[in-house]
Order: sequence, then C-alpha cells, then structure tokens
Amino acid sequence: MTATLAGRIPPDIGDQLLGLVRTLLPFNRSITGQGVRDTLAAIGDVAPLEVHAIPTGTQVFDWTIPKEWNLKEAYIEDSRGNRIVDSRNSNLHVVGYSVPIDARMPLAELKRHLHTLPDQPDWIPYRTSYYKETWGFCLSHRQLEGLTDGEYHVRIDASLEPGVLNYGEAVIPGRSTDEFLLSAHVCHPTLCNDNLSGIAIAAWIARLLAQQRRRYTYRVLFIPGTIGAIAWLATHRETLGRVKHGLVLALLGRSAPLTYKKTRNGTAEIDAVAAHVLRRRGGSHEILEFSPWGYDERQFNSPGIALDVGRLSRGSEGGYPEYHTSADNFDLLNAAALGESFAALCEIIDVVERNGRYRNLRGYGEPQLGKYGLYENLGGASSVTAARLALLWVLNQSDGSHSLLDIAERSGLLFDDIVFAAERLHAAGLLEPLDSHLHEEA
Ligand code: ZN
Repeated sequence: MTATLAGRIPPDIGDQLLGLVRTLLPFNRSITGQGVRDTLAAIGDVAPLEVHAIPTGTQVFDWTIPKEWNLKEAYIEDSRGNRIVDSRNSNLHVVGYSVPIDARMPLAELKRHLHTLPDQPDWIPYRTSYYKETWGFCLSHRQLEGLTDGEYHVRIDASLEPGVLNYGEAVIPGRSTDEFLLSAHVCHPTLCNDNLSGIAIAAWIARLLAQQRRRYTYRVLFIPGTIGAIAWLATHRETLGRVKHGLVLALLGRSAPLTYKKTRNGTAEIDAVAAHVLRRRGGSHEILEFSPWGYDERQFNSPGIALDVGRLSRGSEGGYPEYHTSADNFDLLNAAALGESFAALCEIIDVVERNGRYRNLRGYGEPQLGKYGLYENLGGASSVTAARLALLWVLNQSDGSHSLLDIAERSGLLFDDIVFAAERLHAAGLLEPLDSHLHEEA
C-alpha cells in the first residue's frame, strides 16, 4: 500500500517552510503584477507549477479581470526634501493599486490620503483599493502625529495598465481523475501569517505529493484572493465535477489553535475527516461553522459552485491584533506552528486517501480469527490490544454503511489501526471492499 504522507514529512519541515517565507517576503504582491510572477517563480523552485495568465478585461462570472498594477517606487518628501515615507522601507506604505501621482500639497490635503492605526500607533496598516481608482499611503500613527504643517511632495511611480492576472497551478495526477483541491491566496505583500504561511505550506505539500502517485489527483492553486478564485472557477467549469474534496490554506504559521472551518453543508467527508484529525491530534483546536466571509472558501462554496471545500488555519482572519498590519511579520511565525500545521494537513490527506467501506463476508457470528492467523503479526498496529479490538470493530461495523473513518470515530481507535485491521481481514478473505480504490491498494 502507498506510504502515508505523514510518514514522509522532512524532519526539518518547520525550518524549510520558514525559509520559503523568507524568500517570498520581499516580493511586492498584489492581485496582479510582477510581485505575483516573482512569487510564482519562487514557488516553482519548490514544486512543479504551471503559471497561467488571464488578460485584463476578461469577463469571469460577474467580475472583470482588472488592469495590471506595478509599482516602481513611492515616497513622501517634506519641504526640505527628506523622504519621510518610502516604499523601499516597506511595501505596505503604498495603498495597493494606487494610481500614479506626482504632486505637491499642504499637510491638510495630504492627510486625506494617509491611513494609520490610532489604536496600534507603531504599526503600519495594510490597505488596497482594487476597484476604485485612488491613491494613498499607509504609515504608523506615531509618524503621522509627528508631521508638521508645510508643503509635501508625494510621488507614486506606478503603472495601472492592461496586462494579465497570473495564477499558479500544480496538478499532480493520481490513480483516479477525481480531485482534491488545495488553494492559497498570493495577493498580500509582506504579511507573513496572512498569506505567506499558507503559500509555503501549499508549495511544500505539492512537493511531497508529487513524489508518489496517490489515489486522488491533487490540484494546488496559488491564486490572488477573490478575483483569482472567481477567474479559476469561471475558466474550469469542466473540472468542477471532479473535485471531491478541498481545503483553503491560510493563517497557518502563528501559535494559535489549529482551526477547521466547515464546508457550506457541513456534512462533507472532508468535514468529518478534518474534525477527526484535529481531535485525535489532541491539544487545543477549533471547529468553525461555515460563513460567507474569510478567504476563497467563499467562492468555492457559492451556491452555483458548491464544492466540498473547507479551510485549515490557526485561528481566524481578524482574530489576532497583528492581522493586516506590519506586525504580521516574520517574527509572528514559528517553525513549530508551521510544522504542526503541515503535519495536520498530511494526516487529513492520509485519512481521505484511505477511507472507504467494506462488507463482512462472514457475518453470522464472529469468525474464528485464530483460524486465519489474525492474532499473529500485529506489528503494524499501535498495540496488540488495539489491533485485536480493531479487528472486532471492523468486522462488526462493516455492513456496507460505515466507512473506516466512521469505525475509528465510534471505536475511539486510531484510524491507522482500523485501516491495518481492514487490510488484514481483506487479505484473509473475510471482507469485501465496496469502494474500488480499496481493491487497488490491497
Ligand atoms: Zn488578508
């Protein structure tokens, strides 16, 4: 049988993920532009990636692909020519999608274009204006308070012109054309937990998945938030019917409880699997009901699309003070949290891959297990007791209506022990697989 992903996680995965975050940190991402292309190129060094481009003006459902935005530099100079705000110090200083400007103006007028966080006076906010043409700067409230009256020179050297929207896609073929969709947004500059943690984990899971053929075909998307998801959905209508499970990956690098947000229906297999894995891992965790807010789970769960896509994160968007500020930086992440998030994702995939139903072929009383050698060679199980119990649970519950995950849940035994028992019972001729992938693996 196929080796589990969890058993093949590189021992230094947390540091590898941090390393990728550091590589991606300087690129000035937005929903379009060179920063996205640089990001996708760097992901391509980690995992097999195809980069796609959709031209400005393309209609995608109710939306239109916007003009492409690229920033060269932006600054505010005081009357003595000192650069008091400079995009070279932080990509967050410029409101994303600012139109070009080169003008002098008094402080009162400039202030109408400045954004700060009075409650967090040392942090720079993250602001964008994708669909309304305007310009602006973001700075710390403390810096704003220090500005004196006088004339200021503002310059934003940017282009907002017809171009393309790029996204990246890693498609890793499995034994089945049925798909497992994974998705991370790639549109935030600088921010580490909200954006780069999800990108790094998505890149590394694609890398690991590509090393061995699996049951499902995996499709890992690196897309600008909202418009990228809508563009992908609008251009992949024929693919949607093959997507059986999915996860949006975001906010995975900070020390906060592992959090699973359910699909719109809340009754999908991925909902049961993710809840099972988070519970069985122990420690603090949270299961959230679906809401049409957050990341691209909103698009994947819209009524006309209705894919079974949940979301794996640690905590929620807006659920930590550093969210969408300059304090969502490299120091907010830690290798242990990233590594644990990655391990949980691997376990979820491992359960989805191996879940299925069997039928007991000797259901009139228990079969005499010793006769089939089933009390021997129990080395693949977590303990001899668990292995024996698992045999009885699988035999008892395999009436065709309960999956291996159902049996793990009901028995309180490890999913791996249940799978091990089912494979041995199948090999002994006592069970018949009801799902075709269980035949292939036996
Ligand atoms: Zn965000």
